[in-house]
Amino acid sequence: MSCDFLALAQPGVQKLSPYVPGKPVEELARELDLDPQSIVKLASNENPLGPSPKVLDAVRAQLDELTRYPDGNGFVLKQKLAQRCGVGIEQVTLGNGSNDILELVARAYLAPGLNAVFSEHAFAVYPIATQAVGAQAKAVAAKQWGHDLDAMLAAIDANTRVVFIANPNNPTGTWFGASALEQFLAAVPEHVLVVLDEAYIEYADDGELPDGLAFMGSHPNLLVSRTFSKAYGLAALRVGYAICSAQIADVLNRVRQPFNVNSLALAAACAALDDRAYLARSRASNAAGMQQLEAGFKELGLEWIPSKGNFIAVDFGRDAAPINQALLRDGVIVRPVAGYGMPTFLRVSIGTEAENFRFLDALCKALGR
Ligand SMILES: *Cc1c(COP(=O)(O)O)cnc(C)c1O
Repeated sequence: MSCDFLALAQPGVQKLSPYVPGKPVEELARELDLDPQSIVKLASNENPLGPSPKVLDAVRAQLDELTRYPDGNGFVLKQKLAQRCGVGIEQVTLGNGSNDILELVARAYLAPGLNAVFSEHAFAVYPIATQAVGAQAKAVAAKQWGHDLDAMLAAIDANTRVVFIANPNNPTGTWFGASALEQFLAAVPEHVLVVLDEAYIEYADDGELPDGLAFMGSHPNLLVSRTFSKAYGLAALRVGYAICSAQIADVLNRVRQPFNVNSLALAAACAALDDRAYLARSRASNAAGMQQLEAGFKELGLEWIPSKGNFIAVDFGRDAAPINQALLRDGVIVRPVAGYGMPTFLRVSIGTEAENFRFLDALCKALGR
């Protein structure tokens, strides 16, 4: 008889389910024999504008160097980010996506007997990163779909080393303001590392969301993680970063894979930071698309959770799986969020005007209107 290698996995891993990504366009095209061009994917909070032409030029210019290892220290990108964020270069850590940052934190600071606190309906990677290193994942009940920061504070115990908070949160789109963040940071024990996940911060207008970096000086236990996957439109290249104290950055650097960010991603991220017009277009397109979807939901008599991200969770008040199936048959991919404890919702990423229209049209049909 062969060994049961599931039973041999460490207990935290045995209890995990794999991350479920948005359904790829090619997969649905194969399954339904559809033209991939006719499919609309609004399932992974990707930037519908496509990459900036300046980024494409930077990537092309880098292609001749593929035989070389990338700069393992990512010096040029780190320097740019440090300047942009108003911190020292020794406070910047690059990640293979900000996902990588979350894992570096877990590997460096969590272990069996320790725990991480995060919210119900929060990003699926928090429990994965936590349990992968044998630590306990403490999910705290949400309040009106958002983080209940007081309850999260109360959940912190002597074995808590990390708190993950997302602002805005994915998949709910909920957010908290500067005073709530300030009070939370003031009350968190100073040995607990607060990971403030700001994956969507670039979509917010000035002052709409607190800028985590503004709290860095007064809270050495704060780490802000950001990504190039969303507003900068580089999801495929996998690049994110953390801003934190030089000491925490040094610790993360000890467990970091030596060449975790590849050379195309480094070049692309540098060019993306320089293309401020692209970012402004992303923000404007997202704001318009959000209004378009909200207006469509209103017309259909649907409820939704107000969102500060590039996505919106819409509530059907009943099992959303059949509606998702109908949308798929019509070539529209959105994200079911039953796995996030939201079985009556679908999460829809904001697309271009035409994509949003196509989705709303398919939704009308799916609802029999
Ligand atoms: C998309 C997302 C990320 C970032 O993912 P990467 O592509 O790995 O940078 C991080 N946190 C949240 C909450 C997200 O939604």
